[in-house]
Formats: sequence, C-alpha cells, structure tokens
Amino acid sequence: NHIVIGGGTGFIGTALVNAFKQRGFCPIIISRMPGPFRMSWHDLERDGLPKNTTAVVNVAGQNILDPTQRWTPGFKQNIWNSRVETTKLLARAVTACPPKVFVTISGVAYYPPDEKEYNEESICNKYDFLSELCHEWEDAAKLPKDLNVRQAIIRSGVVLGRTGGMIKQIFIPFYVGLGGPIGSGKQPMPWIHIDDIANIFVNVVENDNVSGIFNGVAPQVVTNKEFTDAFASALWRPAKIPVPEFALALAFNRERAKIMTEGQKVIPKRVLESGFKYKYPTIDLACNDIAKW
Ligand code: NDP
Repeated sequence: NHIVIGGGTGFIGTALVNAFKQRGFCPIIISRMPGPFRMSWHDLERDGLPKNTTAVVNVAGQNILDPTQRWTPGFKQNIWNSRVETTKLLARAVTACPPKVFVTISGVAYYPPDEKEYNEESICNKYDFLSELCHEWEDAAKLPKDLNVRQAIIRSGVVLGRTGGMIKQIFIPFYVGLGGPIGSGKQPMPWIHIDDIANIFVNVVENDNVSGIFNGVAPQVVTNKEFTDAFASALWRPAKIPVPEFALALAFNRERAKIMTEGQKVIPKRVLESGFKYKYPTIDLACNDIAKW
C-alpha cells in the first residue's frame, strides 16, 4: 500500500508522511536528496511510479519567503518550476500507471484579496504572479478525462505549526516580545493548523466519495491582527510593535510581501460538507497548541 509523496521532506510533507504511516500506508518520498524510502524526480521521470502505488500526493515547492533569496527572475523561475514542473511530472506518471487517487496542493492566492468571501465554487481570474502560479499549478495536475483516477486539489492557507512555515520565522521575535501585526493588521489571514491540513489530505485519500477542490483553511476567518493577538497571548507576551508594510516590501520585494500584507477571505465550504472534523477550528485553540513546549 504505497503512497508517493513529492516534497515529503518539507514542513507539510513530514506531517503527511507521519499521518499516512499511522494509517498503515508505506510512504515513498520524492526528494532532491537521496535516502531510504526515497526516489529522485529523475527516477520518477525515468522509471515511473513504484509498483503497488495506490496514492500519489504532491507538496513540493521552493520556499517563497526564504529571506536569504532575492526576488530575482531566476528565483521566481525556481518557485514556479518546483511546483508546476513537479506536478506535471507526477501527472504524467499517474497517467502512465494509474493509482487510485492523486492529490496536489495549491494556495489561497487563487482568490483575490478583496472584501468578498470565497469558497471552492468561486471562479476567479488571475490577477498577479502568485495567482497565476496557483492557476498553472492546478492546471499542471490535470489528467486525461477518461483516466479512472480520483483527483483532488487542496488550496491551502497559511499552515500553522512549530516546525516550519510562518510560525518558525516569527516564533523568536514573538517569544521575546517583539511581535506585532503586519501593516494595519486588518487584512484577512486564511490559516490552518498543521494537524488539520494533514488530516484533510488523509481524509481525501481514504474517502472514495470525495474529489475536486478543497480549501485547506480553518472555518474561522481571522485578520492578521486577530492572529497576532491570539499567538502573543498564547505565549504570554505583548505584541504591540507593528511591522510596517514598506519594510517588508524593502526586504522581500512588494510582489512577494503581498503574501503577508494582503489576505483573502476563504471559506472551507466543501471541506465542511464532506463531514471533516477540525481538531483546531479556532485560532485560539491552534495558537495554544503551538505555544506549548
Ligand atoms: P517546505 O519548504 O518545508 O518544503 C518544501 C518541499 O519542497 C521540500 O520537501 C523540498 O524537498 C521540496 N523542494 C523545495 N525546493 C524544490 C525545488 N526547487 N525543486 C523540487 N523540490 C523542491 O515547504 P512547506 O512544506 O511549508 O510547503 C509545501 C508546499 O505547500 C509548497 O508548495 C507551498 O507553496 C505549499 N503551501 C504551503 C503553505 C504553508 O503555509 N507552509 C501554505 C500554502 C501552500 P527536497 O529538499 O527534499 O527536494
């Protein structure tokens, strides 16, 4: 019962590997680094999927907010290819040797950052680099119509967990009392706890009746300021020092600083309809868990 996980070494990938092992799957990771129970993207291209693969998942992608990387055309190309090309390679391998189910990740930057609330049924146009990326990333996963493979795409919000993503970057400043909202803090911040996003993947892989788009966000919509207050109070620290937008734009370039300075109101309508039970439905529950040692 093999599950192949592209990007299985990362923050979300590691959570998926652990969650699927607990459910009795034998995960095989696709990584650029060799190791036990791993294969490379080149192996995949040359040999296809391992025998007895029943599920294929992709959560690979170069870290967009890596502060050591400048926002150059080369880096943007890496951001793009590490998502779109890996997903295309997997879609080709899935077509050649069909498993039961194929699940890939995408982002809530698919939706525009305006006043409206969006759910999985909203059809949206591309409006900037990141939204174009989400569209192409999702298109890259397309399979031939007559192929008998169940397929789902999880559009994820900011994933909250101690070992990676945003929390890993802001933990120390918040811990020493130097945290604060980003800009006005009024922008929505679509979020989800790491355990819940992993469980959504498990649910989609195991539940034969679900397919299509799922918003990987918690049911509670919060603003950046509300998140900041919840996280600071879980750590028993003040968080009064706002991070000015211009400083983020200087450090990260305006185009990618948008991930932090703008946000979308995203509702997980289809996730709730599928009967999924969140372990951390509110930001207070999630932050209290993350702040625990
Ligand atoms: P990590 O940076 O922790 O992990 C990324 C994974 O992608 C690694 O396992 C790495 O594998 C692989 N990877 C990195 N660069 C490349 C590359 N150039 N080519 C091929 N593979 C590469 O990220 P997360 O786990 O946080 O995120 C995983 C995916 O989920 C990303 O695509 C991200 O955009 C998406 N996502 C994440 C959110 C979050 O809040 N964390 C929110 C929404 C979407 P290895 O080094 O082993 O090759």
